[in-house]
Amino acid sequence: MNKAERVFNFSAGPSMLPLEVMELAAEQLTNYNGCGMSVMEMSHRSKEFEEIIHTAESNLREIMNIPYNYKILFLQGGATLQFSMIPINLLRNSKKADYIVTGSWAKKAAAEAKKFGQINIVASSEESNFTYIPEVKREDFTPDADYVHITLNNTIYGTKFTNIPDTGEKPLVSDLSSCILSEELNVSKFGLIYAGAQKNIGPSGVTVVIIREDLLGHAPKDTPVYLDYKIHADNESMYNTPPTFGIYMAGEVFKNIKKLGGVSAIEKMNKEKAMKLYECIDRSSLYSCPVEVKDRSWMNVVFVTGNEALDKKFTAESKAAGLYNLGGHRSIGGMRASIYNAMPMAGVDALIDFMKKFEAENL
Ligand SMILES: *Cc1c(COP(=O)(O)O)cnc(C)c1O
Repeated sequence: MNKAERVFNFSAGPSMLPLEVMELAAEQLTNYNGCGMSVMEMSHRSKEFEEIIHTAESNLREIMNIPYNYKILFLQGGATLQFSMIPINLLRNSKKADYIVTGSWAKKAAAEAKKFGQINIVASSEESNFTYIPEVKREDFTPDADYVHITLNNTIYGTKFTNIPDTGEKPLVSDLSSCILSEELNVSKFGLIYAGAQKNIGPSGVTVVIIREDLLGHAPKDTPVYLDYKIHADNESMYNTPPTFGIYMAGEVFKNIKKLGGVSAIEKMNKEKAMKLYECIDRSSLYSCPVEVKDRSWMNVVFVTGNEALDKKFTAESKAAGLYNLGGHRSIGGMRASIYNAMPMAGVDALIDFMKKFEAENL
């Protein structure tokens, strides 16, 4: 299959990356900027790589408008390792934390945190199969909680927080794996933000952590060295060998976002893509979206026909039409179109055309 035959890939992650970035990476693969070697082959202590990681960091700071009292870390272990690093580092006083459970990832984060302290589930939408985001007020939080954790966008269930909960003085910690850089965000509302790279940032293997400086340095003394945020912050993500090629790719994605007009321009496109697709679903007599309208994700659009066999047929036939990975998560079935930053409008248009044709043939 040559480049012209690329498919529209609706995978929830790893997912599509900007074609321009991958073409540049291909061009630079064996000889980066005339230095005679690949980024994969160079020392992380080299002048070239230092420039790559510093540029990536400063561009991310610029496009997300990250205040100077926050550190940006490029780590490994995915969002999953953050489920453990967060309680280890942030359960620093009462050893209590509040979690809002809005899906499987939030549930996993809370379950892991329970190994380290007293975790209170202050709200959950599990009883309705996570089809909405519960409302939480400041009074609902545990008065002496060390932090509050939310999953901003729920990749599997297709919901997102539109309003960020007001946690008062308590640091808000959020998993942004499936929505980072998709919309403008006021970083100063958070104590810590984390995201696995493989949805909106780059290849898997890099995890971005954005942490307010006062939250550094609270890990217990016997904490394994890799799990202490302060070690990474003090060493500018170079305590050990960082995922060099992934950081290079992430850096090119950040440059690409700048070139496209920044996160505000990306947000405008994402909103248009999502609204178009939800409108198609809401107008159809075959498809429906189980998620409450106010809580619908712009990144992961879930829908069903109400007939499992027909859902399977949809997934198979859409694939044959060049629209890949539209099956819902293995835990919930149905369909899910992940339309991250790199999914072009043309992909959404092609999906809508296919949906209309499939509806006409199967209703
Ligand atoms: C994909 C995803 C994860 C899992 O990330 P890993 O990098 O595989 O650990 C966690 N949280 C959310 C919201 C995700 O979308």
